[in-house]
Amino acid sequence: MRNLSIRNKLIILILIAAIPSIVIGFSFIIIRDIFDLQHNLVNRTRLNAELVGRYCISPITFEHKKGVMETLDKMRITMPNIDQAFVYNEKGEVYGIYSRTGKDTITPPPAPQRAFDRYKADSLHVAREIFWENRSYGYIYMIASTDELSQNTRNRIFSLVLVMTGLIVLSYLLALRFQRVISEPILRLAGVTENISRQADYSVRVKKQGSDEIGILYDGFNNMLEQIQRWGKERDRALAEQIRLLAKVEEKNTELEQVIYVTSHDLRSPLVNIQGFEQELSYSLKELLKILEIIDLPEKEKHEIYRIIDEDILDSLKFIHSSTIKMEQLLSGLLKLSRLDRMESTFEMIDMNRMMAEIISSFEFQIKEAEVMTQVEKLPSCFGSELQVNQLFSNLVNNAIKYIDPHRPGRINISGYLDSENNQAVYCIEDNGIGIPEEHQERIFGIFYRLNPEAGEGDGLGLAIVQKIVNRHNGRVWVESKEGKGSRFFIALPAMEDSQDLDLS
Ligand code: ADP
Repeated sequence: MRNLSIRNKLIILILIAAIPSIVIGFSFIIIRDIFDLQHNLVNRTRLNAELVGRYCISPITFEHKKGVMETLDKMRITMPNIDQAFVYNEKGEVYGIYSRTGKDTITPPPAPQRAFDRYKADSLHVAREIFWENRSYGYIYMIASTDELSQNTRNRIFSLVLVMTGLIVLSYLLALRFQRVISEPILRLAGVTENISRQADYSVRVKKQGSDEIGILYDGFNNMLEQIQRWGKERDRALAEQIRLLAKVEEKNTELEQVIYVTSHDLRSPLVNIQGFEQELSYSLKELLKILEIIDLPEKEKHEIYRIIDEDILDSLKFIHSSTIKMEQLLSGLLKLSRLDRMESTFEMIDMNRMMAEIISSFEFQIKEAEVMTQVEKLPSCFGSELQVNQLFSNLVNNAIKYIDPHRPGRINISGYLDSENNQAVYCIEDNGIGIPEEHQERIFGIFYRLNPEAGEGDGLGLAIVQKIVNRHNGRVWVESKEGKGSRFFIALPAMEDSQDLDLS
């Protein structure tokens, strides 16, 4: 029933309501008709019995049996439905026998004691007292055939069933016609819905025909379409704005990269000059000191000149020297980052088990020196730039060795799994090193951000480069760490080629 069309459902429902009423109504009429027919036959036979009984009074009074027989015989023409009849005098003696078929061999039933009428098998048995002016003359017993009754009943049933079938057919035709009142607006709505889902055209509206529940449904549907249309427009606007902003960000990014590149590159020549002049100054100072040794000056002035050279000039030169070194480090760091942006790279499937073995062996010296135990589990492959992915994991392994806790044996574990739902290979570099306090965990991915400069050499760029490479692969990097316990760096990279998701620039 659930899968039937609404049209057929409505027809079936109308018929379910109509057919039982028709059948029950007609059954009632048929039963009443049969009852009427039977009642009519009883009445007729009763009347006939009383009439014939009257005619028999005089022959019974004169004990004229033949007269009774003659009276009964007249029934052959006037009452053809009477099969048999018997007349008894008041003593119960048989006075007359009648049989329509003319068989004389029939045995009369015992004389009735009272009037009755009852149907027995295929016949109706009626007994009536022959009574006239307060005197009983005996009984008449008639057996009427029910053939006619059966025939009439059959005819009546047939015609009523015919009418009933006609009415059911008529109900079906009416149901077929009137189900449209409900089904058509719903089917029209279904058609419009299907069209909308196929063509994604939300500008269409359904035309309301009335204010019934279907009219309310139409209103709701139109309102819904209006909202979808509005949301669609808003979404398109937001999307256009997003694209515009993205382009702007991209433009600014390129500009910034350009600025970083130019400044880090161009600032090197003045820096080299400063370094050169600083050396020149150191050299001149040495020369000056040599001259001071040989010339003759009063002790007080000589001491003052030595103090100025030691405290002011040498300190300033030391400061200039350390600042130029720091500046050089910063510039080379910036240049390194900016080169990464400009680097052309080809993306391919990378066997991470091979790459990780290579990375670990390249750190063999540091691993031995720090007495760190490394363990590499089976790793899933990923899709990326061999060069960049190598740099990414080298930086992480380098940090894991560098920030090991000197108070306990170092342990580094590298594992990975395939996140098929997001089509990503997820790797974890876990160490039991010094860990990172919670408040610094997000900032360590920033440029030049260093937490423990005393723990090891570094330029504060390792994780910034990791972040950049991960971004270029549309991946993700995050850290879980506890100060004094160790850190886990997670890297998610594409597990398979999906050119749409990659920034191949
Ligand atoms: P660098 O190592 O040159 O300082 P990074 O960008 O690689 O720069 O790291 C930034 C900071 O994050 C580090 O100074 C260090 O404090 C912290 N860090 C990175 N990796 C780890 C690690 N595995 N364990 C503890 N601290 C770490």
